[in-house]
Amino acid sequence: MRVTENCGGCGMCVMTAPRYFHLVDGLSQALLSEVDPDDAVLAAAELCPMTAIEVFDADTGAAVTPTP
Ligand code: SF4
Repeated sequence: MRVTENCGGCGMCVMTAPRYFHLVDGLSQALLSEVDPDDAVLAAAELCPMTAIEVFDADTGAAVTPTP
């Protein structure tokens, strides 16, 4: 997964999935690029108002969430 340059720094992902995201200089960063499947990551991606969180299947590379 990754956070794109569209991040607006609202912090929703950090509140939704604090194990996976943190804010650096007001913008979100993923703590890890590859994680085990977790609904919290998908929820964060779906709730992101800027659609800035992209999640991919590590094996196939297919998008797991809609990409902008
Ligand atoms: S929810 Fe989206 S816009 Fe808000 S901080 Fe996280 S990645 Fe950035």
